[in-house]
Amino acid sequence: MHLVPTQEEVVQLLRKTGALRDGHFEDPNGLHANEYMQTALAMRYYQTAKTLSVGLSRLLRANSEIRAIIPELSIVCPDTGGSHVGYGVCEALQAHQVYAAERDGERQPLHFRQYLEQVPGEKVLMVDDILRSGRKLLELKHLLESKGAEVVGLAVMIYQPTPKTVDFSPLPFYYLAKLDARYSQDAEHCDLCKQGMPLEKVWI
Ligand SMILES: [Zn+2]
Repeated sequence: MHLVPTQEEVVQLLRKTGALRDGHFEDPNGLHANEYMQTALAMRYYQTAKTLSVGLSRLLRANSEIRAIIPELSIVCPDTGGSHVGYGVCEALQAHQVYAAERDGERQPLHFRQYLEQVPGEKVLMVDDILRSGRKLLELKHLLESKGAEVVGLAVMIYQPTPKTVDFSPLPFYYLAKLDARYSQDAEHCDLCKQGMPLEKVWI
């Protein structure tokens, strides 16, 4: 394993842990895909989680602008589900602090816990396990900026873009592996549906 695991090494880890699965899946947004990624299945193994978090932190440290602000850097996750990556990256980087946003109900806005307030100009690196639609990370970015924080980058373990993924450029963006699933907008346009392959609905 390289210090920053290669794309192939990451994909191998994901397959071995059952996190990356081949098949015929329907996302909650209606897209059909030939692969599915569930990072929690990889992160259940502490050593795998550590390998991936440390790898991501090495990628970040290689950027001189990020390296220069590590002592004051806040690692912020869009929810507690991303926190295990956030904590791993924060520990490896020795960043200033790590915290997560949350929401009270499915249709409620993201917010931070009482008394968890950003200082004006706080330098924030948004961290999550995976970037797929990007909607929640975009909401987090808006929330942080509305509180006076400065978002300096976005880092995820896995980048699995769909035709609907939010474009965060020119924000610096870091990821360990990119997964190119084949997506179809619905059953009518899906080759796997046409082949009669059984469809599995996925929750997230
Ligand atoms: Zn299909």
